[in-house]
Amino acid sequence: ATPTAILVGTGRGAQLGVLIRGPEVLEQTRRVDTIVLDKTGTVTEGRMTLENVVVPGASALSGTPERPESTGPDASTGSGNGQAREVLRYAAAVEALSEHPIAQAVARAGTWEQAEQEETGQKETGRGQAGQGDSGHAVSVTDGSSNSLVAEASSNDGGLEVSGFVAHPGGGVEGLVRRSHAGLGDGPGSAGSIGTGLNTRRVAVGRAGWLEGQGVAVPAEVASAVERAESSGATAVVAAIDGTARGVLVLRDPAKPTSSAAIDELRGLGLRPVLLTGDNEGAARHAAREVGIADDDVIARVLPDEKAAVISRLRSEGRTVAMVGDGVNDAAALATADLGLAMGTGTDVAMEASDITLVRGDLRAAGSAVRLSRQTLRIIK
Ligand code: ADP
Ligand code: MG
Repeated sequence: ATPTAILVGTGRGAQLGVLIRGPEVLEQTRRVDTIVLDKTGTVTEGRMTLENVVVPGASALSGTPERPESTGPDASTGSGNGQAREVLRYAAAVEALSEHPIAQAVARAGTWEQAEQEETGQKETGRGQAGQGDSGHAVSVTDGSSNSLVAEASSNDGGLEVSGFVAHPGGGVEGLVRRSHAGLGDGPGSAGSIGTGLNTRRVAVGRAGWLEGQGVAVPAEVASAVERAESSGATAVVAAIDGTARGVLVLRDPAKPTSSAAIDELRGLGLRPVLLTGDNEGAARHAAREVGIADDDVIARVLPDEKAAVISRLRSEGRTVAMVGDGVNDAAALATADLGLAMGTGTDVAMEASDITLVRGDLRAAGSAVRLSRQTLRIIK
């Protein structure tokens, strides 16, 4: 093995957007036969959009709530719509404190919703407008006592103040939401639906199963709205207010345009692609089909701290496993794999746990890394 060849290979990698940590990494890369791909942010854009808010028993907030033009003044006159809007605004206030892609989509949609209300003159103007992405994000710190994140600061978004925010990784978020303006709830359709007098609501948004664990009853109509959305390939979370499941937030996260070609190439190089995600089976299979991964190679509903265990299991089956990921949730799995590859567009934690960084966040660079390792080591031996 000549160090020069390794050096040349590593330098060539940098040109291809493949940042290699050390000389031994090329050998690890050459041996890999299985490549486990995180779904959200790795295979998909990682930028969810809120597609719909369903309030069972009332009409949905149809169309794409993120685009203000799709919710004109007419949309707010129906009572079902009023409820969907109310649910969205409470959910958005709490999600504004979370960094999860689901949370960001809900918070963005809530901001549009607020802007829309102001444009249509239903509320007095003149107060600070929370812009996209600056809606009171707080620094989250672990509280030390549980597997949760607690926000130090509170969010004040659209006349709603949030305190006691807690994020439960793999589950959802919760917080106390207080109305700091008289505006919310005065709109058509919402009168009586959140009660009067009491200003503080306990809001939780997350996976239906997690909410049930928190003591929230999820009625059959809500559960079936979740099922319908998930079987269409969406991600659906439930919003609960004061312990009652009130609405279903339906989100979508399309595959990156380059993912399909990247996975074709990896397969062509003899690697077996596996999709790994905390998301539901429906959304996971939908994404897998979009990029050409077989249903049998989809591992869904994996809790953040179980991703590493899945990698260990595959290794114990005799496979040499590469893992590609971008999130804090992926770090342990990236470190456990024979080869960890982080998306350069992802978190620092993922990059620090990895052997290779795909600088541009383009999954096709994973194939480049494999080809490069084979070429370099063929020259050496
Ligand atoms: P992934 O990164 O693959 O989406 P996670 O472990 O982060 O997996 O999340 C798993 C599930 O937990 C999500 O699909 C969602 O149902 C729920 N969840 C996690 N965080 C949130 C949040 N901030 N808001 C709502 N739901 C959440
Ligand atoms: Mg991810």
